[in-house]
Parts: sequence; C-alpha cells; structure tokens
Amino acid sequence: MDTRTTSSDIAPDLPLAARLFAQLRQDNDALHGPDTGITRDTYGAGEERAHALMAQTARTLGLEVRNDAACNLYLTLPGRDRAAPVVMTGSHLDSVPRGGNYDGAAGVVAGLAVLAGWVAAGVQPECDVTVMAVRAEESAWFPVSYIGSKSAFGLLPAEALEILRLDTRRSLREHLQACGGRVADIAAGQAHLGAAAIDCFLELHIEQGPVLVEAGEPLGVVTGICGSLRYRHARVLGEYAHSGATPRSHRHDAVVALAEVITRLQQDWADMEAAGAELTLTIGQVSTDAAQADISKVAGLVTFSVDIRSRSTASLQRMEAHLLSAVRQAEARHGVRFELGERTGSQPAQMDAGLQDALAAAMEAMQLPHRRLPSGAGHDAALFANQGIATAMLFVRNAHGSHNPDEAMDLQDFGAGTQVLARVMAQRAGLR
Ligand SMILES: [Zn+2]
Repeated sequence: MDTRTTSSDIAPDLPLAARLFAQLRQDNDALHGPDTGITRDTYGAGEERAHALMAQTARTLGLEVRNDAACNLYLTLPGRDRAAPVVMTGSHLDSVPRGGNYDGAAGVVAGLAVLAGWVAAGVQPECDVTVMAVRAEESAWFPVSYIGSKSAFGLLPAEALEILRLDTRRSLREHLQACGGRVADIAAGQAHLGAAAIDCFLELHIEQGPVLVEAGEPLGVVTGICGSLRYRHARVLGEYAHSGATPRSHRHDAVVALAEVITRLQQDWADMEAAGAELTLTIGQVSTDAAQADISKVAGLVTFSVDIRSRSTASLQRMEAHLLSAVRQAEARHGVRFELGERTGSQPAQMDAGLQDALAAAMEAMQLPHRRLPSGAGHDAALFANQGIATAMLFVRNAHGSHNPDEAMDLQDFGAGTQVLARVMAQRAGLR
C-alpha cells in the first residue's frame, strides 16, 4: 500500500482564507471608510496594502517571497527539484473603483490556503509551487490590458510606461516607481517568467456572469477567455445647425449618423449569432458635447465607445469589418466624419484540454456537477495561455456579478473550489 499522503487528504486552510478576506475588507475600510465598496487601486494604496498582507502571510507560513520589476508578488513552496518547471496559481489583487472583495483576490487567497494546508501537513512537492499575486489587471485605472502579467514576461511595450492613470493623471512610470518597481528593466523587456520554466498556470476566479447562480451549481470549468477589440475615444463630427431652420436634406447630424451605425451593428451581431458566432458588442458611452449641444441645435459632435468581445479572433475581425462598413455608409449618407481613434484590445485564449479534464475529474470525485463555460471577461490566465503555457481557470459561483460592492461569493463554494484547485495542483506537483 502506498503510505504517502494523498493530495485529497490535505485540506486547504479555509479558516486562513476567511481571515484574509476579512482583513482585506478591514484594510479597505481603513483607507476609504465603510460602505463605499472595495477600492484596491492599481499601483496605489489599496493594491499595495493587499500585496503587503499576502507577503506577510506567506512569510509566516515560511514560503519564499519574491517580487519582479513590476512588483508582481511570487509566494513559493520549494519543491524537491528546484530546476523542474513550476506549478503556478494566482490572480490579481487590484479591484475596480468601488468594486467587490472577491474579484481577483479569491484566486490569490485560494492559492495561499492550498499551500498553508501543505505546509501544515509537512509535505514537499516534487517541483516548486508558486502563488502569483498579479499587479494591474483591472484596466479601469490604466487603459492597458494585463500590465502586470505582460511585464512579468517582458512583454509590456515601453511606451505603456507613459500612460496616465485615469484618476491621478500620473504616469504608470511614476506609480511604479512609488511602489518600488524597476521601470528600466520593464522598458528593456526583461522577463521574470519564461514559458519553458512553467508547468502550468491555474486561476480560480469568481464568475462575473449569472450562469452558475442560475444553474444552482457552485463551480464551473472555463473553456476559453474572450479577447476584446475596443475604441475608447471614437467620435462623429457633423455640423451644428438651427433645429428649426435647417431642412433634413441640409443636415449633417452626428446623432442620427451614430444611431444608424448602432442599429446596423445590432443586425450584424444578430446575423453573426444566427450563423453560430459567439461575441458581444457594446456601445457603453455616447455623449454630445455638453458645452455646445442644445435642444434647438442639430448635433455637430458625438463621442462614443465600442467594446467587442469574443473567444474567436475571426469573430472580432468580422465585427470590426462590419463597424467600418457601417461607418463608411453613414458618412456617405449624412456628410459626417467618423474618427474611431486608437484601437486597443487583447487576444482571446483557449484553456488547456487536459487541465480542464483534470478540474472536471476533481469535481466529479467530490460529487459536484462539472459544467464548462466560457469567460466573457478578460483574465491574466489568457496571457499565460498565449505564451504556450498549459492554463486553466475555475469559476466559483457569485451572485450580483462583479465590479460592484454587491459581489457575493459563498465561502462554502470557495472552499469547494479551493479543494478542487488543491487536487489538480497536487497532481501536477507530484503529491499523490
Ligand atoms: Zn478579475
């Protein structure tokens, strides 16, 4: 009989997890006061405090604590073979302004709870096992996707360092330096992580949509992560004119031109869906110029945003082609000009089939349903997957969506998710 400890014998330290969630909330309230939601600002006081808490907890557990040039945090339980590819788990610790306590933090806390369980059981994995607390995942602060994980792989373009944080109007460079980051290393593309040295990356995250709540199921296995294609600062330039004195044939109405584009894109979206494509299209911001627009004027200027998301690069490109065609048509019809401005976005990513099966098998062993679902939101796991690293994500049921103070994850669901995570991490790290 095999006398070694089996992975399923080792319970994650869930009381530690509960204490960490409570401390994160308390630290937030100390900075911002209670009842204001959770604000862990990227490269600011909120995120710094959360990183300090996780680093301190890891030191208490006897884990190795490291930072890279972008202040990402690595908490490592050393394995027997320190040269073997590392098993990694983790997520981000920043939040949107007035967000919830679990988006991001749950994945870091889960990883620490797993390692705390292993430390208490006195087991040593075959390879290093690292919990990564990623910086700057929420693009609500700096309008760039995956700043932390891109920097870790030496992939952040140097010019991104000059981008301003939307609220402070201070550059990423300044914010990084204030947190002790090494901007010269980032600008030089110096990588802290390399795909060859990583066995796999697993990210536990709350579900940000309603699927698991509606299904009455605690966990889900993510199949792929949507990429995005965005125009944050698009505008339509028409001509201001008197509302009563300007006949229809003489108008260059920016509002009407944009309305036609939006209506046509809704039809294109429906047609693409009918043909089997999966994507979303959102025009989340539309404004006339408050200083110039008036009830008695034809609108001469409208600003708007476009957000397209899909797991398929082809679908992203197809919808963009529809957008450009609708814009050209509206320009010709109304004599207006569209300026879409800078395009930003992120690559879609597929999750590793073997890891998806391993997560599903662990859920089955715990007599849990094992639904598979895509992620409509972006995650650092996408960046890992697109480096060719075997990557998977586990969603935990969460009511009321995310990016708001009403995120509601049940600690029992979190416990089940952390146990599933522990089993798959144990298999990959040679604890059987
Ligand atoms: Zn998140």
